[in-house]
Amino acid sequence: MVDVTSERPAGADFGPSLWAEALSHHREKTQPAADLPTQADVVIVGGGFSGLWTAYYLSLADPHRSITLLEAEHVGFGASGRNGGWCMGWAEGIDALLERPKTRTEGLRWARAMQSTLGEIKSVLDHESIDCDFHQGGTLTTATNRAQLARLQRHHDQLLTWGFDESDFQWLAQKEALDRARVEGALGAQLTPHCAVIHPAKLVAGLARVLRARGVRIYERVRVTSIRGLMLSTNRGNVACETLIRATEAYTRELPGYARLVVPVVSAMVATAPLSDALWASIGLADRPTFCDARRVTVYGQRTQDGRIAFGARARHVRGTSLPAQYASTNPIFEEVERALYSLFPQLSNHAITHRWAGVLAISPRRHLEVAFDRDTQQGHLGGYMGEGVAASNFAARRLVERMMNLPSDWVDAPFYVSRPKKWIPDPMRSAGIAIARHAAERADAAEQKGATSPFWGRVFNALV
Ligand SMILES: Cc1cc2nc3c(=O)[nH]c(=O)nc-3n(C[C@H](O)[C@H](O)[C@H](O)COP(=O)(O)OP(=O)(O)OC[C@H]3O[C@@H](n4cnc5c(N)ncnc54)[C@H](O)[C@@H]3O)c2cc1C
Repeated sequence: MVDVTSERPAGADFGPSLWAEALSHHREKTQPAADLPTQADVVIVGGGFSGLWTAYYLSLADPHRSITLLEAEHVGFGASGRNGGWCMGWAEGIDALLERPKTRTEGLRWARAMQSTLGEIKSVLDHESIDCDFHQGGTLTTATNRAQLARLQRHHDQLLTWGFDESDFQWLAQKEALDRARVEGALGAQLTPHCAVIHPAKLVAGLARVLRARGVRIYERVRVTSIRGLMLSTNRGNVACETLIRATEAYTRELPGYARLVVPVVSAMVATAPLSDALWASIGLADRPTFCDARRVTVYGQRTQDGRIAFGARARHVRGTSLPAQYASTNPIFEEVERALYSLFPQLSNHAITHRWAGVLAISPRRHLEVAFDRDTQQGHLGGYMGEGVAASNFAARRLVERMMNLPSDWVDAPFYVSRPKKWIPDPMRSAGIAIARHAAERADAAEQKGATSPFWGRVFNALV
């Protein structure tokens, strides 16, 4: 196992992410922390997609309420400014509902709502003139060995029996799969149109611009150090508020008293230099679908608007309560990501990698996205996206605002509404369980690549996850 070492430079900076530059333009315009009020109507803690989308929909629903957003570093500092840019018409929690006949209808309804979330996001982008390279080219999941082919085909057939059709999930035989992307060893693929690519930091910066224009006060470098009811302590003084929303995702781990609500997991990414037309001709991905294969250790890639490949893989969970801000580009974690990329497109192995960066996402004990708001205490939270929060944070924010404002809703008893956060089992059981699952996934993937069809470690992984 690779041990992830971290650096936390003074005044932690963006890290060398491909997207980071889009955020640097935004920074000069933020509210001086010296103006931090001692009293506020609504305070949102966290300047990622969850906090920004919540502020956006709340400012639409109640333009007279003053909204203050507090961010420990800068907007988009967390996963929202560093991710793979898959804006997915899916959310964590839908699979579990679909699998059980009793909850299948609810799962299908939620999946349809996530599919239309892409339309909702696109209409906000158009309406607010936010250019974040949004392009809906779908997702291509390729099977690169026999075991992956069987698993992917089985899952595809299940989706069709659960109520989706070929316009949602299309099966591609080997030749059709290779026509879309010349993935090494491709045996077949599944294509869904329900995903768009975005430049995540452009979306963060665009939302922050729109919010500032709507009168939302965004304070950066203001770290909430403790929450007691509706009273917040920060590194810049105390703030009392009437309503409090926590949108801190993986960084929840750092808040005193909240450490067991999430397990933070590092996901690492690399980006190539822009590829030549000849190289693109040898790769495909002409319509810019997001892409992956069907291995168990999640990998994800996109063809960026400027002709690079940005590619990532989930890595390790973080122990301890302090999350790393950056990862040294020499960290071996990036070699693993590059090996995964070259396994799909060997022709890239001689091509320059220009960026290596990592971020932290959250696994919640319920293993699905959560929205909570208690009208009596006026406190709420949203998150728990398990690495699928780009579009899901928009969906969650709309559901949160409906609940806060008591607006009519189709989702009154939906399973993602929770009354209070749940805690993970304590360490060392928690870490041991997660490490075994990760080990099992890696060993099963490796065995399948060598031709095994039902490896022992695959069964261990299935039993654990
Ligand atoms: C490398 C990587 C790739 C990913 N790829 C994808 C993808 O392709 N598609 C997808 O759907 N999802 C992806 N994800 C997940 C997705 O990015 C997240 O689910 C989503 O961005 C979460 O948004 P958020 O606002 O809830 O959290 P974050 O973006 O993490 O924001 C939380 C913010 O809260 C701030 N904060 C925390 N504590 C405090 C405090 N005490 N005081 C003040 N501020 C605080 C943090 O500084 C941070 O800015 C990826 C994640 C990573 C790390």
